Amino acid sequence: MTIEVVLATHNQHKVQEFQRILGAAMPEVTVLAYDGPEPVEDGVSFSENALIKARAAAAHTGRIAMADDSGISVDVLGGAPGIFSARWAGPGHRDRDNLELLLAQLADIAPKHRAATFLCHIALVVPEASGQPGFEHVSVGVWPGALATEASGENGFGYDPIFIPHGYEISAAELPPETKNDISHRARAFADLIPTLKSVARA
Ligand code: IMP
Repeated sequence: MTIEVVLATHNQHKVQEFQRILGAAMPEVTVLAYDGPEPVEDGVSFSENALIKARAAAAHTGRIAMADDSGISVDVLGGAPGIFSARWAGPGHRDRDNLELLLAQLADIAPKHRAATFLCHIALVVPEASGQPGFEHVSVGVWPGALATEASGENGFGYDPIFIPHGYEISAAELPPETKNDISHRARAFADLIPTLKSVARA
């Protein structure tokens, strides 16, 4: 039996990434791109924003829907940039501007106080159908590390060049992409999501 899941994103790369990871564990899963209206993401946590997007896609399509929300959280900044990770340097700025602002903000902070964590929350929403109740679940992936004092590496995106994963002495942008794919916050959230999605598929 096949199971189709709508991913609440207009980003085709993300659809392919979800298909690759979920398809490897559950060959019966097909990830579909969502092309409906985008809700206002006015949540104040990764989970809330992921749920807002997944609920909107489930309501619009009547299908099982997923959405993710992720970012970096720096201890000494009280968890910021957090949900503001993509626009830390302000609207219209690039990944590199966000990273440089974060480095500048931590310029005087000693290595032992530079702990940071990548977080990924993936919401799964099963809509109510013919008398069957709906279901919601949020999977969380946490990738601990620390911020470097300068950017290094060419792989990845976003804050990867300044994130030194716990247990490594190189940045996430210096890791081979396959290694990052295996150990990242996203991989950890998927590890939690897959058993839940399997039980939804069996129901
Ligand atoms: P999104 O929720 O996946 O769109 O991620 C929001 C923002 O968090 C991105 O624009 C990046 O700045 C940051 N981010 C999330 N995941 C990663 C990652 O794996 N590496 C580097 N930056 C990330």
